[in-house]
Amino acid sequence: MQDDFKDIVTRLLQDVDTPKLKVCRLEAKRIKKKYTPREVFNRWRSSDEGRQWKKEQFERIKGRCPDCRYILPSAEHFCIDHIKSVRDYPDLVIDPKNLRLLCGPCNQRKGATNISSVVAVCEIFNTESNL
Ligand SMILES: [Zn+2]
Repeated sequence: MQDDFKDIVTRLLQDVDTPKLKVCRLEAKRIKKKYTPREVFNRWRSSDEGRQWKKEQFERIKGRCPDCRYILPSAEHFCIDHIKSVRDYPDLVIDPKNLRLLCGPCNQRKGATNISSVVAVCEIFNTESNL
């Protein structure tokens, strides 16, 4: 009985097609990546719905960045900012209540609140001030 079981397991293991399994794993990885919050957001942003949302927001704020108050000529000058970060609130990644427009520099400045970006910005700053 035990030997029968061993045979079955051995046969099953031989049947596992490793290259095929590898392809499956890669495919699973690819599919998983497609649904990361950032990818979901990027797809929404370039969709008709996302573009329409941006246009409406631009009209609503009359081209004025809510942070620096500068008025910019078109929606292209604005980035979509996540009020609550994608990392901490992945479920709100395309929730319009969590989105707003910011001008490029303000959006970058806000992005720089995460430590690695701050370090990167400081490094650039130090390099420049040493020149
Ligand atoms: Zn701004």
